[in-house]
Amino acid sequence: MKVLILGSGGREHALAWSVARSERVTEVVCAPGNGGIAQVARCVPVNLKDLNAMVRLAEAEQPGLTIVGPEVPLSLGIVDALQERGLRVFGPMRAAAMLETSKAFAKQFLQRHSIPTANYAVCTTMAEFEKAIEFFHAPIVVKADGLAAGKGVIICASRQTAIEAAQGLFAGTLLGVVEHQVVIEEFLQGGEISFLCLSDGKHVTPLVPAQDHKCIGEDDTGPNTGGMGVYSTDEMLDPAMTEWVLRHIAEPTVSGMAEEGTPFIGVLYCGLMMTARGPQVLEFNARFGDPETQALLMRLDSDLVDALEAAIDGNLAETSMRWTPGAAACVIASSAGYPGKYKTGLPISGLAAAAKVPGVEVFHSGSALVDGQLVTAGGRVLGVTAVAPSLEEALARAYQAMEEIHFEGMYFRHDIGHRALKKKP
Ligand code: AMP
Repeated sequence: MKVLILGSGGREHALAWSVARSERVTEVVCAPGNGGIAQVARCVPVNLKDLNAMVRLAEAEQPGLTIVGPEVPLSLGIVDALQERGLRVFGPMRAAAMLETSKAFAKQFLQRHSIPTANYAVCTTMAEFEKAIEFFHAPIVVKADGLAAGKGVIICASRQTAIEAAQGLFAGTLLGVVEHQVVIEEFLQGGEISFLCLSDGKHVTPLVPAQDHKCIGEDDTGPNTGGMGVYSTDEMLDPAMTEWVLRHIAEPTVSGMAEEGTPFIGVLYCGLMMTARGPQVLEFNARFGDPETQALLMRLDSDLVDALEAAIDGNLAETSMRWTPGAAACVIASSAGYPGKYKTGLPISGLAAAAKVPGVEVFHSGSALVDGQLVTAGGRVLGVTAVAPSLEEALARAYQAMEEIHFEGMYFRHDIGHRALKKKP
């Protein structure tokens, strides 16, 4: 079977790597892909913001399965469009992807179905916002309704700064797009867990849990990024808590979407805050996370294509996924200056030596192949990922491989997994 993957980052590299291991897969095509993905897939250009271009490509390639990586194609309705043309595609339809594409929809949905989440208000004007803000105590969380590539959440130290943030969102000065709805949220405290599951519209199958590191600086300081690293261990969510999250969050979400006539088929990514009053939903994503996918797929010990097809066919209840016990960790190497301005086109060296470290795969987030030389092509450049029987060993392997790699200005955090390591006796 030929598999088409839409996307160009580390998540798609990990998906391509995992799919290529399936005995049923004869060819992997990635659009547009990147320099690293080109080592495991045939890369073809496409604009991920152009629905018609993606549809034309899929019609020309006629893959047996299409996997949608990022959120923008989902928000444009790529799944609806490919299904209409009789193509098999893994991901939620546009109406179901609203769990991610509209934070106002997600909050109202959570409330309708009594699924635990922070108290909130959805406001459509500044007048409404100023009235609602009186009911919240600082710190206050202000969120853009729409997709904002991780930049749409502002934690405000006072009501006044919350008002200024909302003004910036409504006026379009903060994110460059005018928001028509702004969400105010109660500030929650606790550890964050990324709880991803596959959903076939009726049943859910959890993946192993993960925790990412959003801040650029060590000890979680400095501006937010797309994610500087992630780790996954068995201990981060015990079986009883996993069961609780399934019963009270993932399953009611999937059954609620089905009841509302928009069944959710795809990856339901629940961003959870483990608070004193139990796990609360911070956000949903309607797709695999990046860099969570890089770490999670290294722990997958069964066929990814079988699982994705079971979700499409409504057979998840009869399908199991096997996971390697222990841990995986992914450390991101980024360009100097990221998440601000950075240079691209800088030669990358040492990848062959890094790949020789046992249990390591280097997934490319932003690289390009220019005249046979791999060069940097993004803010996040590489995700050095390792699997091992313990988190300590997985991190040691990832950092050992990182030592082999070089490009001008390369930056990475040295403290990935620090919260889990500190907890150990
Ligand atoms: P989101 O895109 O909604 O997950 O928000 C991005 C990040 O903002 C989360 O990973 C949290 O670290 C933080 N965040 C979002 N909502 C809240 C909240 N209600 N309380 C505290 N932190 C939050």
